[in-house]
Amino acid sequence: MSTLRFKAVEEAFKKKALDVQVPARHIADYYGKYVFTTSTMAKYLSKDVVNAIQNAVKNGETLDRSIADDVAAGMKQWAMELGATHYTHWFQPLTDGTAQKHDSFIDYAAGPGETVIEDFSGKLLAQQEPDASSFPNGGIRSTFEARGYTAWDPSSPAFVMDDTLCIPTIFISYTGESLDMKAPLLKALNAVDKAATAVCQMFNPKVKKVYSYLGWEQEYFLVDEGLYATRPDLLLTGRTLLGHESAKNQQLDDHYFGSIPGRVSAFMKDLEFEAYKYGIPLKTRHNEVAPNQFELAPIFGETNLAVDQNLLVMSLMRKVARRHGFRVLLHEKPFAGINGSGKHNNWSLGTDTGVGLFTPGKTPEENLQFVTFLVNALMAVYKNNGLLKASISSATNAHRLGANEAPPAIISAFLGTQISAILEKIENATAEEAIVMSSKKKLSLGIAHIPEVLLDNTDRNRTSPFAFTGNRFEFRAVGSVANCSSAMIALNTAMAAQLKEFKATVDARIAAGNTKEKAIFETLKEYIKVSKPICFDGNGYSDEWKREAARRGLDCETSVPEIFKCYTTPESIRMFEETGVMTEKELHARNEVKWEIYTKKIQIEARVLGDLAINHIVPIATRYQSLLLDNVYKIKAVYPAERAEELSAMDASLVETIAEHVSAIKANVDAMVEARKVANRIESEYRKAVAYHDTVLPYFDIIRYHADKLELIVDDEMWSLPKYRELLFIR
Ligand code: ADP
Ligand code: MG
Repeated sequence: MSTLRFKAVEEAFKKKALDVQVPARHIADYYGKYVFTTSTMAKYLSKDVVNAIQNAVKNGETLDRSIADDVAAGMKQWAMELGATHYTHWFQPLTDGTAQKHDSFIDYAAGPGETVIEDFSGKLLAQQEPDASSFPNGGIRSTFEARGYTAWDPSSPAFVMDDTLCIPTIFISYTGESLDMKAPLLKALNAVDKAATAVCQMFNPKVKKVYSYLGWEQEYFLVDEGLYATRPDLLLTGRTLLGHESAKNQQLDDHYFGSIPGRVSAFMKDLEFEAYKYGIPLKTRHNEVAPNQFELAPIFGETNLAVDQNLLVMSLMRKVARRHGFRVLLHEKPFAGINGSGKHNNWSLGTDTGVGLFTPGKTPEENLQFVTFLVNALMAVYKNNGLLKASISSATNAHRLGANEAPPAIISAFLGTQISAILEKIENATAEEAIVMSSKKKLSLGIAHIPEVLLDNTDRNRTSPFAFTGNRFEFRAVGSVANCSSAMIALNTAMAAQLKEFKATVDARIAAGNTKEKAIFETLKEYIKVSKPICFDGNGYSDEWKREAARRGLDCETSVPEIFKCYTTPESIRMFEETGVMTEKELHARNEVKWEIYTKKIQIEARVLGDLAINHIVPIATRYQSLLLDNVYKIKAVYPAERAEELSAMDASLVETIAEHVSAIKANVDAMVEARKVANRIESEYRKAVAYHDTVLPYFDIIRYHADKLELIVDDEMWSLPKYRELLFIR
């Protein structure tokens, strides 16, 4: 082992678990303490102001400026009591993660002078103009008008982090286009609320609002900070670009069932404590399949809030991990040969009357509503399977999808045998038969039996990217580092558009003289038939499925830059515009940003890989090769020719093998650099991204293959990069 590597490994193995002191005994004592929740608001704001905020949130109304001043004053007081001296508009740019610019509360008391006061007005709360020209915008803002505004989103609560009051905001251009993830998400949630409420009112006129819910499951890896620091690839790209598989990794499934190592469980406890302070209801924590891989999940919540909480958790994870001498890897595929990380998005809709729309009901009426929403969800996913794939596609998630451990790069839906059987019955019955069957007494349709049936519906297809799991759909293709907004915008918009179409069709049939039930069943029967190609209960990892899916007309594209084009098909543009979620201009601009980010990610990886190969691997291999040659010489000097030939044969052949790998590495790195130069000259972001995908990326595997072979040959003492077996097993 090289000295540097030895030190890093030794340090890592010596580290003990921190003794985490959780100050209060009951979670309830500190839960949400750093969030400006409704109950906290009640202590700092007048009743009228609290009501005004709640109405604004509920009805999507804008807040009066005078009220904003009151809110700001109360918020400032609360934040300062928690030690805040600064405030920031916290927003979600089109790059991963969140962005913020901190400003101090201070201002001159009366013009420039020596005395300052701590000031925070409604104006500062409601709107800011950050100098955000460096955030990607896809050409929406020309440089001479590089203005963008952040505007307060009262539907997600402000919080205090360290010394800063963080105000969740949307980020829009001077001309009103969204430049972030939150603005279109709020529009999509509004669209699905309107469309779903209209459909619910066909069953229950009391329904006034439909909420979209999200429960995410965050997978991640932990790696020791010292080892991490000696891997330039982890440091700069978040994944290992080289590294031979460890002899033992996840074959024995012993990590999944194993107990959580002490250092890790101390990290988890600490993280949970932090998360609870921010009102994030973390519920489960466990080991995942791969060594050093873990998962945490909260209790699901309203989608906008759940997205914010996930972003907050990801930044808390990064912070808390460092306290424990770890780095958290949120990349979808940090290590080759073992599972990658995803973020299952459990998605459902529910009414303000407390009914889950994907939850089988208790009465035939409720069950008809359930089947209506289920079938419409299938239609939405069927019609938009390419778009949904685009919503989860990225340079990093591409390594995970289709890699025999995660959903394939084809979106399909899994229903389970029972639900599939029910839909088949509806499809094959006449509308009249279906109505009779679904009525109270005649249960042959099975609809009224759904709740009981589901109790023993335990078949859970783990290979499906979009699976029905009893009261929700689990969108499993989402990447671990992704902002869930992207998937949630696409899914909720698709559902909104679909429900609008459903309502219009049913209304037309009613107007033509059909009863409501008949109109609904006729429409559902058609939908079940049409959406059939999206339903797949078999093994999503198999090659047969790839062929079958292509035959069914599902989107099978695997090149990420091409997949992004699903956003700008005529159908997608129409859908986003009709639901008021995004304009054609915004969709095009966002794709420009996606291509640009894709290119940059591959470009950085290519540079790091070139550096590792040429400046680490090749010199080490060459040094070892020369050691072997030296040995050959010495043997020849000592032994008679024939015996020397025998004794040095092994070394001589190794010398040649090394030479072959080294020259292959050099040649391919050169070719990769050339391909990059050609790609860099391309103007169009789309064509540049395609060039990076088609002509630069393919070298990665080739170079890696030769480097990993050398890892198996070269003296361990010389190898400078920590190996997988060291990175992957926390003691
Ligand atoms: P599993 O690993 O079996 O999928 P988990 O308990 O890890 O289950 O995660 C399930 C997630 O789904 C949790 O975040 C949970 O709160 C969420 N969830 C449960 N019911 C719903 C629902 N109706 N709508 C949205 N999310 C839900
Ligand atoms: Mg799950």
